[in-house]
Amino acid sequence: MTDRFEGKVVVVTGAGGGIGGAIGDRFASEGAHVVICDRDAAAADAARDRIEAAGRGSASVEAFDVGDGADAASAVDRIIAAHGRIDVLVNNAGVNRRGALLDLSEDDWRLSFAVNVDSLFHMCRAVLPHMVEAGGGAIVNTASQWGLHPAPGHIAYNVTKAAVVSFTENLARDYAPSRVRVNAVAPGEVLTPMVEAGLARSGRTVADLDALVPFGRIGRPEEIAAIIAFLASDEAPYMTGSIVEATGAQAVA
Ligand code: NAD
Repeated sequence: MTDRFEGKVVVVTGAGGGIGGAIGDRFASEGAHVVICDRDAAAADAARDRIEAAGRGSASVEAFDVGDGADAASAVDRIIAAHGRIDVLVNNAGVNRRGALLDLSEDDWRLSFAVNVDSLFHMCRAVLPHMVEAGGGAIVNTASQWGLHPAPGHIAYNVTKAAVVSFTENLARDYAPSRVRVNAVAPGEVLTPMVEAGLARSGRTVADLDALVPFGRIGRPEEIAAIIAFLASDEAPYMTGSIVEATGAQAVA
């Protein structure tokens, strides 16, 4: 493993979850201090303990709701007070309220936007001034392949992830002169609790999903984390406004 993030402060939302956990592990393994942000305090603590047990990098926890602007601003204030800088922000927290339009409640719709879209507004508004003042930084957002090519029966999720794509492209253009790079990863299906919840609902198995992917299987969280670490690193200095798909060559049916 390299030391690309030695001495850097990396803030990861949804870092108590499947992909977010792997993102935290990856940055810490390359020397970062990772701030694990999640509304699930127990999951966040477990992610911090895992990083500490691995013995490389370090971690701390901020347990809050990323859909709440005041809570997000307070968390960023605490991170700056403790560490003095934020080098990388990974907006990864997300929810997937499944269903076609008539299957969804207004609460499903509002929650999807609060967690998947408003969180980017809140976190970036709080973090950007510090990155601009520092002369640059990197933001990586977890979008989805379904934000580019909608899968059936997931309108709230797909529309919010399309907004993540557009948010990424807009922020990248507006802050390129400030040397804040903004990119997104757009995964196909990845084996995490989010996908396991969908399988439990549909009665399908992981093998069923694997069979749909030309590569032979769905993705692994650490494979998405590796792409995010690359996008956030100095190895990608001219990449900004990019949406990187990782799908095992699966087309959305
Ligand atoms: P996950 O359910 O394992 O993790 C999501 C994490 O976000 C959880 O720890 C949860 O507690 C946290 N979270 C949810 N709402 C929050 C809130 N309001 N405030 C703070 N934290 C909150 O899911 P995952 O599969 O690891 O998904 C991570 C990201 O990857 C999501 O944005 C998801 O949309 C995206 N994604 C996942 C897949 C997939 O197949 N798993 C594919 C494409 C994109």
